Amino acid sequence: MNPTREEGLQTLERFLPHAGISYRERRNFVPGVVSGLSPYVRHRLITEAEVVGAVLQKHSFQEAEKFIQEICWRTYWKGWLEMRPSVWSEYLEALQTLKIQMQEEPDVNDRVQSAESGVTGIGCFDDWANALRETGYLHNHVRMWFASIWVHTLRLPWQLGADFFMRHLLDGDPASNTLSWRWVCGLQTQGKVYVATAENIERFTDGRYTPRGLLAQEAPMMRESFTNHPPLPLAHPDQHVSGEKTLLLITEEDLHPEDWGIPRSDVLGIVLLDSAEAYPGIAALPVGWKSHALEGAAARLAGEFQCPITCLQSDKESLSAKLRTLLQEYGAGCYSTMTPPVGPTLSLIDPVLSELVKEGVTVRRLRRSWDDAFWPHATHGFFKLKERIPSVLKQLSLIP
Ligand SMILES: Cc1cc2nc3c(=O)[nH]c(=O)nc-3n(C[C@H](O)[C@H](O)[C@H](O)COP(=O)(O)OP(=O)(O)OC[C@H]3O[C@@H](n4cnc5c(N)ncnc54)[C@H](O)[C@@H]3O)c2cc1C
Repeated sequence: MNPTREEGLQTLERFLPHAGISYRERRNFVPGVVSGLSPYVRHRLITEAEVVGAVLQKHSFQEAEKFIQEICWRTYWKGWLEMRPSVWSEYLEALQTLKIQMQEEPDVNDRVQSAESGVTGIGCFDDWANALRETGYLHNHVRMWFASIWVHTLRLPWQLGADFFMRHLLDGDPASNTLSWRWVCGLQTQGKVYVATAENIERFTDGRYTPRGLLAQEAPMMRESFTNHPPLPLAHPDQHVSGEKTLLLITEEDLHPEDWGIPRSDVLGIVLLDSAEAYPGIAALPVGWKSHALEGAAARLAGEFQCPITCLQSDKESLSAKLRTLLQEYGAGCYSTMTPPVGPTLSLIDPVLSELVKEGVTVRRLRRSWDDAFWPHATHGFFKLKERIPSVLKQLSLIP
């Protein structure tokens, strides 16, 4: 799986014939019919709008509705977390506390190690743990079963499971991952816990796994008040000012600046920031994937924009000084960046950008029209956003 835009587009092309009825009917089976697009969409080597646009060229909205809804789950989670950044910071804090506790409680530590190494004795779970470490990918239904077994059968803290995913998935995403784990625990949709059953696993793996008698039948309700995380208003994005000479600041969160709406003639240079290791303890496989994705993007953009490209490591100390120097060297008036959503890249870049702004540097924080159109509908449950999909796709000119 090459981390390039070309490979992402080819993966999409191969999947297109299946995005309609076969996806609707077979997506829950393992391996079933799924796209494998997530690492590309996660890093926006290809975008949600491109994927949905291409799907709608081949299928009617009705035919492809299920697939489009799944793409919109990603958008929903991202918008929801964007308005509740404290859910992410609370997850990180809990994780840190749990890791300290684990040093003092060897029993928990041993059980977590067994789960991550795939030696719990629950065959399906062990295979999936190994597959995650070896490939960086798990099917959605497997992720649900895995999380359920982790939390409800093995009785391990959900944050440690979410962390295991974040450290190994190629598509590891603060919003989709954290909020899906919370959903399995019943923290996301109040009153609804997801409990994997042996029958369900047997049916959707076509009998490959039959973990009868091994799984918890029910789950204790975890409680948390939503009022602990009241939604904040979304920040207003900036727009590119036509004619303003700018440097593009690119991160792993959006590797397709060709359609940021900035004319090539306004771009004097490109700065790529490597934040592949910003998530603590991230494994070599996703780090390699992200770094190669960034290198590939640099090569592609050099040809596309015909301007100098600089790659920077995420060294917080000297980052703002380097960025200031580059601005002077290239004679540009400002930086333009697709603002990273809540997560490690934002935590890295936000203080640096604020420092630049304090020093009088103009920073244009852009947002894609896809996010701008959908995120305001992510205030409550998914249903509210789902209802708006046809009208938002019209607004984005993706359906007539
Ligand atoms: C516990 C758990 C953790 C997860 N962690 C992540 C994560 O870190 N990163 C991530 O991208 N997805 C995550 N997901 C969602 C989903 O499992 C993956 O997006 C999907 O399996 C990717 O495979 P695919 O591209 O073949 O999916 P397809 O079924 O082909 O879906 C197409 C695209 O739609 C989006 N999508 C599909 N299902 C979901 C979903 N349930 N939630 C959000 N987006 C979805 C993805 O961008 C995906 O590429 C998680 C789900 C669970 C239950």
